[in-house]
Formats: sequence, C-alpha cells, structure tokens
Amino acid sequence: MRKIAIYGKGGIGKSTTTSNLSAALSILGYKVMQIGCDPKADSTKNLMKGEFIPTVLDVMDKKGDDVKLEDIVFEGYNGVLCVEAGGPTPGVGCAGRGIIAAFEKLEELNAFENYKPDIVIYDVLGDVVCGGFSMPIRNGYAKDVYIVTSGEMMSMYAASNISTAVNQFKNRGYASLKGLILNAKNVENEIDLVETLANEINSEVFHYVPRERMVQISENDGKTVIEKDKECEMANVYLELARKIINQK
Ligand code: ADP
Ligand code: MG
Repeated sequence: MRKIAIYGKGGIGKSTTTSNLSAALSILGYKVMQIGCDPKADSTKNLMKGEFIPTVLDVMDKKGDDVKLEDIVFEGYNGVLCVEAGGPTPGVGCAGRGIIAAFEKLEELNAFENYKPDIVIYDVLGDVVCGGFSMPIRNGYAKDVYIVTSGEMMSMYAASNISTAVNQFKNRGYASLKGLILNAKNVENEIDLVETLANEINSEVFHYVPRERMVQISENDGKTVIEKDKECEMANVYLELARKIINQK
C-alpha cells in the first residue's frame, strides 16, 4: 500500500489535483482511498457527483461509539473510496485536532485492512503546518509528499513552510518530499519562480498542471476532468501525473 500526502495553501487546487489524480489512478486499475484533511471537507466532492459526504467528525458527534466504516467511507467515481476528516465549528476548537481524531477512528475501525486500497492519498490543508495538519507526515501515515503551488507568492510561501515541516520529520524515517506540482495561475515568469523555489528547498518541479477551463466545466457538473472526458487533453495531464507517481521509487 502506497501512502501519499498532497499539501498546499488553501484554494491553490489541492482537491482538484488530488481528486483528478485519484480518478486517474482508478482508470489505471488501482484501488484508491482519498482522505480529505481540510475543514472545508470538499476534497472528494467531484468524485461524489458534486455532493458533500458526512465527515468523520460529524458522524462521531452524532453516533458516538457506534460509528461503522460504512458511515464514513463512501464509494465514489470508478470505485474510489472517499473519506472527509472534517473540522470543528469555526471559532470553536482546533482544526488539526479533528484530523487526529478522524485518523484514530479510521485506525480503530481497521479501514485499510477492510478496504485494502493500493494507494491512500491524503489531501491536506497546509497554510499552517500545526500538530494536526502535520499528522499525515508523521507516525507513518504518508510516505511521499507532494506540494501543490502556483507562482503566487503566498502559495510559494506556504510550500516553503510545508517543506520545512516535512524535513523536520525526515530524519525520523517519516515522510519525504518528492516534489512540487505546479498548478498554474499564469502569473508572470511562473515556471522560473517555482523552479527557483524548488531549488531552494532541494526539490524539483515534479509535474506541470496548466490552468484550463475544462476543470471548472467538469466541476460545475460535479465531476473530475477524468470523469467528464477521459480522452481530453487535461485528463491526459492528470493521467501522466498518476503514471509518474506510480513509477516514483
Ligand atoms: P484547494 O483544495 O487547494 O483549496 P481547490 O482544488 O478547491 O483548492 O481549487 C480551488 C478552485 O481552483 C476550484 O474552483 C478549481 O476548479 C480551480 N482550479 C484548480 N486547479 C485548476 C486548474 N488547473 N485549472 C483551472 N481551475 C483550477
Ligand atoms: Mg481542498
């Protein structure tokens, strides 16, 4: 079982990239589980016909100790298994702690042993890599980390912080940074800017994802690009990303 974490600033395109990646991996024949780790809880919605699924935290609040796997794991497009950790009411409690509680619940219910995914992908908000949001890169949850960034300053700033957090844990045999996914916002000199950042943090631009209308057209239809039209050019971008990640040592 491969365990991957996709980090990045809020709004940069993590969930779009992750859900298209999951869909692409499913097309390539892999069983994928995608776990949304963002209080927004919309990571998997384009795999679920545009619908929000109940979050682990919400279900735990409602059902207490009675939570079953089928209350928190939902099968979406092409068999992709979807989970949303969820988050607390804004202003009450810490978002990161929600992730910890959700992970513990999945473990307690033996989610991985039951569903036997080939690949688990964590989609993680990384504006601030606090204890909770760093959970996926600690304790053996994820091994490979990719950071989604554009050439915008704030997303590169977040990427740099995330890289520092990953390196904090690297020596303890935890996750390592495999590269940046450049999700283009078409700012001036974007590729140069992100390549410079990659050099500074001893990493590389692993994949380039252009900004494309097809993403929004598919999203408006509650779909990933892959589901909307797996023959289109943009689908190929995500299929290529999926193949590269599979071939990554
Ligand atoms: P995050 O998960 O990082 O908060 P989202 O994946 O929700 O960000 O993306 C935010 C918005 O950006 C979405 O409306 C999405 O359609 C759009 N978006 C993301 N990537 C692309 C892209 N490559 N081309 C066009 N629009 C994109
Ligand atoms: Mg998201």
